[in-house]
Amino acid sequence: MATSGTQLDPRFQECRERCTFAFATATIFQKRARRYSKYLRRLTFLGLALPLAIGGVVGADLLKKKDVLAAFIWIAGIVGVVQLVVSLWSVVARWPENLESSLAASSENSRLTEEFDALAKQVINPPLQFGNDYSKLITQDNTQRLADEKQLISDRERMYGHRAALRQFSVKCSECNAVPNSREIPRFVTTRCGTCGGKK
Ligand SMILES: [Zn+2]
Repeated sequence: MATSGTQLDPRFQECRERCTFAFATATIFQKRARRYSKYLRRLTFLGLALPLAIGGVVGADLLKKKDVLAAFIWIAGIVGVVQLVVSLWSVVARWPENLESSLAASSENSRLTEEFDALAKQVINPPLQFGNDYSKLITQDNTQRLADEKQLISDRERMYGHRAALRQFSVKCSECNAVPNSREIPRFVTTRCGTCGGKK
């Protein structure tokens, strides 16, 4: 906890706010990275499932019966088309590139979270190089924010990140005055808080 003296130091407040913001952004990109990783695992599975299934069926010599052969060709055709469409989708939607950039943004924002947290703790009794470290970190954070904005964060993702940060730091939402009890935005609520996405 900061003393009343340190709360007056604007650098303390700035460090805390940037720490929270970087944490929120890191959780947004972690969620994205998990999603793209899942998509790519499914794509790899699809790519392996068809040839393995063909190899298994041919190996077991099951294609002598006409009805089995017809059913197999039909199923293999469907799976093949699905695989092609999903592969095309992955290229157009740039899943591998998005996974890589999400991991990089998540990692960098996690680092900024830790460093702003460490700096905020030093404001009480700042070391000699505090001013330099503070300016350097603010510059790095501004650069990272600009890079993150180019990755087009949606309103729902911002809400998710904000909610995760409120929960992490046990801070009440400024709109509904509640501390979220989970990161996930509740699916069913009659009236939703426009800031944290929780029940209002
Ligand atoms: Zn709220």
